[in-house]
Amino acid sequence: MFEKMDKDFVLHTYARNYVNFKQGINATLYDDKGKDYIDFTSGIGVVSVGHGNARVADAICEQVKNITHISNLYLIEPQAKLAKKIVTLSGFDMAVFFGNSGAEANEGAIKIAREYGEKMFKNKKYKIITLENSFHGRTITTVKATGQTSFHKPYFSPYPEGFSFNENIQKIYDVIDDETVAVMIELVQGEGGVQPFDKKEIQKLAAFLKEKGLLLIVDEVQTGIYRSGEFLATNLYEIEPDIITLAKGLAGGVPIGAVMTKHKDIFEPGDHGSTFGGNYLSTRAGLEVLEILEGYKNSGKLDEMLMYFEKNLSEIAQKYPNLFVDSVGLGLMRGLRCHSAEILSHAIQSAFDEGLLVLKAGKNTLRLLPPITISKEEVDEGFKRMIRAFDKLS
Ligand SMILES: *Cc1c(COP(=O)(O)O)cnc(C)c1O
Repeated sequence: MFEKMDKDFVLHTYARNYVNFKQGINATLYDDKGKDYIDFTSGIGVVSVGHGNARVADAICEQVKNITHISNLYLIEPQAKLAKKIVTLSGFDMAVFFGNSGAEANEGAIKIAREYGEKMFKNKKYKIITLENSFHGRTITTVKATGQTSFHKPYFSPYPEGFSFNENIQKIYDVIDDETVAVMIELVQGEGGVQPFDKKEIQKLAAFLKEKGLLLIVDEVQTGIYRSGEFLATNLYEIEPDIITLAKGLAGGVPIGAVMTKHKDIFEPGDHGSTFGGNYLSTRAGLEVLEILEGYKNSGKLDEMLMYFEKNLSEIAQKYPNLFVDSVGLGLMRGLRCHSAEILSHAIQSAFDEGLLVLKAGKNTLRLLPPITISKEEVDEGFKRMIRAFDKLS
């Protein structure tokens, strides 16, 4: 009944699975028939503190019974608190702007970079270099910034100018010209295939850009908020970018995006804005999420879980050499590189049949983004189901 309703009234932009989830507890979901699923997707990296998190639910309820939204024309106390929390946890001297999504955060980053390119140089610099297999969003501009030509559908053209993507980091040095203002990268490409970059190579690029006065934009929409094991992947890579964008896991499922920069005086009043961005609901949720995750990290539980998850996953990669080339990724952003796209789609379906939710990334990577707070019992049960699913394929 709801499948038909969805098909009749919702635009068909997704190849949707018609399971109907009715309840969620941390990394476990229950459908309308009472079947349970272990969730290794966390809603694509969003439900960072798990489903039905009581602390976040209570914080949100208390907030929205009082004030949900008042507009950015007035002080918003939880917005100021969340900005301070993000900046403190990052360790950087930066300031934050809040929007509603990852793409919107990246749009903000691009606007800061272009304004910087106008204000800080004699000749206007506006070009932004990205990487092949990157993903930066679905707006016209962030689609163009995305380095996967399959997203550059000709019928959306004309696209904004000033974006080019490169095969690898080495090539970036060759294409920087007098009009280049910034390089925008993910430290671990998520949608592109759970592919981390080499730390030394990233540090070299960061130092090079800094010396030239050009900007490094790090898209941490997926890698941020403890996904890498540190608050930011930037912290793990020990670099200091000019601009960082955040979204997915920041408010545990409430829509939010954020762009933070050390160039605090580039934007002037009127240069950027958002109606919903940074309102009481999303920032109160974000604050609670960060307090939960900070405690989880400081207790040592997160580091333990990272090692436990990695150990289980590499055993899977070794157990099924006919299905998988290797395990990839870092932190709780993990994947299994499949020998083919066909194996990948069978693996996802077979896992689903066993009651395990997993994701796809790129052409042939099975992607795992469990809630950061997933329990050891849920990990054990998830991998048990994974083995049952993959035994059927091999
Ligand atoms: C998901 C994602 C985005 C887009 O975020 P939306 O909230 O869907 O706009 C941008 N960049 C990266 C790295 C992402 O993983």
